[in-house]
Amino acid sequence: MEDLRPLAKRVAEELVSSEFAVVLTGAGVSTASGIPDFRGPQGLWRVVDPSLFEITYFYRNPLESWRLFAARFGSLREVKPNPAHLAIARLEQMGLIKAVITQNIDGLHQAAGSRRVIELHGNARYAVCTECGRKYPIEDALKAVSEGRLPTCPVCGGLLKPDVIYFGEPLPPDALQEAFTLAEGSDLFMVVGSSLAVSPANQLPVVAKSRRAKLIIVNVGETMLDDIADLKVEAPVERFMPMVCAIAEDMLSSRSECRSSAGLTYSGPLGGRGAR
Ligand code: ZN
Repeated sequence: MEDLRPLAKRVAEELVSSEFAVVLTGAGVSTASGIPDFRGPQGLWRVVDPSLFEITYFYRNPLESWRLFAARFGSLREVKPNPAHLAIARLEQMGLIKAVITQNIDGLHQAAGSRRVIELHGNARYAVCTECGRKYPIEDALKAVSEGRLPTCPVCGGLLKPDVIYFGEPLPPDALQEAFTLAEGSDLFMVVGSSLAVSPANQLPVVAKSRRAKLIIVNVGETMLDDIADLKVEAPVERFMPMVCAIAEDMLSSRSECRSSAGLTYSGPLGGRGAR
C-alpha cells in the first residue's frame, strides 16, 4: 500500500499553518465503526425502500415508521467512535480544527469528544417533539415503541419523532446557516469520508473555495469535487487521520520546546496556536 506518511505530513502542515480549519464528515468516517454507508454498494438504501423514510410516511403511519427506525437505527446506541473520530476530536482540542460539520446521524463525533459539531441531518440518539420541539434521549421513545405505544412528549403530549431528517423534510435552518458561515470563514476546508454526493452539504466546499480556502479531501473513492481540491488523499480515514493527528502533535510540541529553550514566553498548553 502507498506510504501515506508524506501526505499525512502535508495535511498536518496545512492544519498547523491554518487560522480557521473546518472539517466536513460523511458516512465514510463511521463505516469503521460498523455503520453501513447509506449509498454505497452495500448501502442501506439498497436493502431498505427509502420511501419508508419519507416524512409523509411517518405522519401517515407513525408507529410503523417508528418500528422501522428502531429496527434500522436502534442499535446505533451501541456503536463506538473509531480512530478517525478520535483524531478529529483531538485536533479540535489542539486548536487546529474549529468545528466539525457532519452529515452523519450517529452522534459519534460527540462521543469521541468533539465539542463544536454541526449536525446537518439530525441525531438518531434523540427524539424530538413534533409540536413543541423539545428533545429527549431516544431510549424512552424506543421503549414505548417496543410496547406498541406511540411515543409522546411528556410536556405537551405531542407526537415524538426520531430527531433525524426524513426524506422530504427541510434541513435544520440553524445548523445549515452555521455550516455555511463556517465554510465562508474557513481558510482550510477538509472533507473527510464523504463522496460529496448530497446537496447542500456538497456546496460547502465550493463556498469555502470561493472565499480562497484551501480544500483537502480524504476519502476512499472519487468525490464530486476532486477536480477543485488542492489535495485529494485516497485512503481509509481511520488510518489516515490518526497519522495526521500524531504528526501535528509532534509539530506543535517541538514548536513549544523551541520557544521555551529560546526563553520565549510560554503562551499556552500547546504553545503557539493552542493559546488562541
Ligand atoms: Zn412537546
